[in-house]
Amino acid sequence: MDDRVKAIAERISEKVVGYRRDFHRYAEVGWTEFRTASLVARRLLELGYDVEAGRGVIREADRMGVPSHDVLEACWRRAREQGGDVEFLDLMRGGFTGVVASCGDAQGKTVGMRFDMDALEVTEADGAEHPPAREGFASVNHGVMHACGHDVHTAIGLGVAEILREVGDSLRGRVKLIFQPAEEGVRGARSMVGAGVLDDVDFLLGLHVYSRWKTGQIAWGMNGGFATSKFDAELRGSPAHAGSAPHEGNNALLAAATAVLNLHAIPRHRAGASRINVGRLTAGTGRNVVSPTAHLVVETRGATTTVNDFMYEQAVRVLESAAAMHGCTLEIREMGAAQSADSDPELAERVSAVGMRLGGFTPRDSAPTGGSEDFTYMMTRVQSRGGLATHMGVGARTGGAGHHTSDFDIDEEVISLAMALLASTTLDLLDSS
Ligand SMILES: [Zn+2]
Repeated sequence: MDDRVKAIAERISEKVVGYRRDFHRYAEVGWTEFRTASLVARRLLELGYDVEAGRGVIREADRMGVPSHDVLEACWRRAREQGGDVEFLDLMRGGFTGVVASCGDAQGKTVGMRFDMDALEVTEADGAEHPPAREGFASVNHGVMHACGHDVHTAIGLGVAEILREVGDSLRGRVKLIFQPAEEGVRGARSMVGAGVLDDVDFLLGLHVYSRWKTGQIAWGMNGGFATSKFDAELRGSPAHAGSAPHEGNNALLAAATAVLNLHAIPRHRAGASRINVGRLTAGTGRNVVSPTAHLVVETRGATTTVNDFMYEQAVRVLESAAAMHGCTLEIREMGAAQSADSDPELAERVSAVGMRLGGFTPRDSAPTGGSEDFTYMMTRVQSRGGLATHMGVGARTGGAGHHTSDFDIDEEVISLAMALLASTTLDLLDSS
């Protein structure tokens, strides 16, 4: 069966590379992946999957960092102009850009796979040394770029879907393909977990491409991503004439300044590394006005969910106290979050056995990246129900430009490798369970 899967992967790889280039050209940021997600849904339906999209797979209350109504609408209209699927676009309007496709025998076990679809607010390089520009598929959406490879992930997902349909007679269980919005800023996964998408998954596979690892280098089970909380804090006081009535004001700028210094003074936690960063502070109106408002953009991180929870709770306490000190009110808005989660070694070993059989992979250790990944919400849900999950990293190096930079690129050879790996692993897991 491995040979058959590999042959199909090779046969369809040119078409799947075409999908990747199309998604790359029409890059969309988190919660605005209307065109991408609607075309994904259409393709999965054509392949014969049961497809759910929109509110059925995205729990509204669990979405984080959603753009404003006006931005969502403008992006929705753009998607329609750029060839999005009209029927699915309607289901996704308002930022419900998730898709779940399933097929197979519900009596058996379920293998779930997650593919993220969003791009970043990065302006793409336009020089001839940048392959997407040279080959004519650089982003036409100015200031938005697939600079983390999620276009590649989405294309791989469609490729896996096609392979599994072709060998579908031998499926001894169920396959569930999960296309997630808004991974950047760790904003999207929780809403799909909240919608119950993971509740029937026994084995969960996730994969990220890395531009700085040699093509085919692979970490079968990544561990140690930071748990993180992203939030905005709004302090509101009251304005007053700074000369004639300073005692009548409540100074939000001072409250914010007090908070910033003390946020960075939260004690360390013995259970592991922690981080805090106030990335932006804006406050005030004029030179002679007691500042009535202040806005802080903050994130905390922790080596474990416990450490991050500690950092977050302390941060809230500092902000509340600083607000109280200056007679201001405080509003905190959650903008993103991820947990820490470890891959199950047992499942990572199963995948590695398949990968080594297929060939083309060189194992490597998964050094912690210092980053965060909201796939951990999905892993934790599956693991808490007794299932197994693993998150893989796969190298795909061309020029070696870093993630989230304007000349980032991915070696497209990885597409066929990853499609074969995920499809063969699915068959392997269902065969023996
Ligand atoms: Zn990424």
